[in-house]
Amino acid sequence: MTIGLYIHVPFCVRKCLYCDFTSYPYHPSDAQTYLQAVRREMRLYGKILSTEERKVSSLFVGGGTPTCLPADGLAAMIEDVGCVFKLLPDCEITVEANPGTIGREGLTQLAAAGVNRLSIGVQSFQDGLLKMLGRIHDARAALEAVQAARKAGFQNVNIDLIFGIPGQSAGNWLETLGRAVELSPEHISVYGLQLEAGTPLERAVTLGKLAACPEELELSMYRTAIDFLTGHYYEHYEISNFARPGRWSAHNLKYWLNRPYLGIGAGAHSCFRGERFANETSLNLYFEKVFRGEYPVKDREVLSEKMAMSEFMFLGLRLLRGIDLNMFNRRFGKRAEDVYSIQIARLLEQGLIEARDGCLRLSVKGLPLANRVFREFV
Ligand code: SF4
Repeated sequence: MTIGLYIHVPFCVRKCLYCDFTSYPYHPSDAQTYLQAVRREMRLYGKILSTEERKVSSLFVGGGTPTCLPADGLAAMIEDVGCVFKLLPDCEITVEANPGTIGREGLTQLAAAGVNRLSIGVQSFQDGLLKMLGRIHDARAALEAVQAARKAGFQNVNIDLIFGIPGQSAGNWLETLGRAVELSPEHISVYGLQLEAGTPLERAVTLGKLAACPEELELSMYRTAIDFLTGHYYEHYEISNFARPGRWSAHNLKYWLNRPYLGIGAGAHSCFRGERFANETSLNLYFEKVFRGEYPVKDREVLSEKMAMSEFMFLGLRLLRGIDLNMFNRRFGKRAEDVYSIQIARLLEQGLIEARDGCLRLSVKGLPLANRVFREFV
């Protein structure tokens, strides 16, 4: 068995207006303490993990904005992973980076520390829309970030893009997609903007100060992304993800395939030894627990068979190739067609999923309605 390792860095230069992730304003002293805490937490796991459980086939450093840490601190943290875990030779090592927080020198340090994949939060190539989102960068900085990554030697780059932004037109979106493709990243993720309750953007929409993107337009932007990116030889392999051949995200695949992963850091989530658990999101609580020598876990849940089957279905259906019915049978000793006979029949009849070659997958009609499909299995 190998695991995926996730390290959360909960700092950002400034909070984006749509964000409800665990992130705090960056302060150098907090960051130093945080790096020590992460080191301690990894060592706590070092005491209990078996040799097999230490084998890491993907490492993802996400946030927040990992690249708001000094590059040498971030590089040292990544190198320190090797003191507890065994990074396998072909391990995918990703760092999330935001334009405005990375330069060629820092990226070169990350590459030297073994980082071989960079995921850049571009979001849009329109300055007005970036401002609407409260991002700290403009389109030029996004472009320069990708160029700097290439100059630092990164041959595996992901670009994150957002559609459905208030004020975004179909033309804006197509232009952003075009500019992304011109940069030839190996991977592109496209997300519909979620107006999360309590965020400034959501409040502005609720108060009528801003008009949300109409649902029909958002849907057509999603379809445009699929047509445009597949037309430029990106494989659409997951609802929101597109990749050149052989460049699927190895780490994210672990989430969708229900493979074990361990999350380190404030607010990090894990799925490990048949349990799901989440770390304290408050920095103070996280520090207190870790420096007392305790696991900084806040919520822990043992996965029942029913939950495991449900996750197998709705996470696996995120992949365009769908879920392998034989694999379900081998894992649970039951047929998915029996456990979910009513749900599967209903979704097939509605044309939201299709059954082919021993797999169940979302249909073209079901793709934009995926959440409705997933609800059937929860
Ligand atoms: S950079 Fe990402 S994590 Fe940080 S505030 Fe913006 S959206 Fe949230």
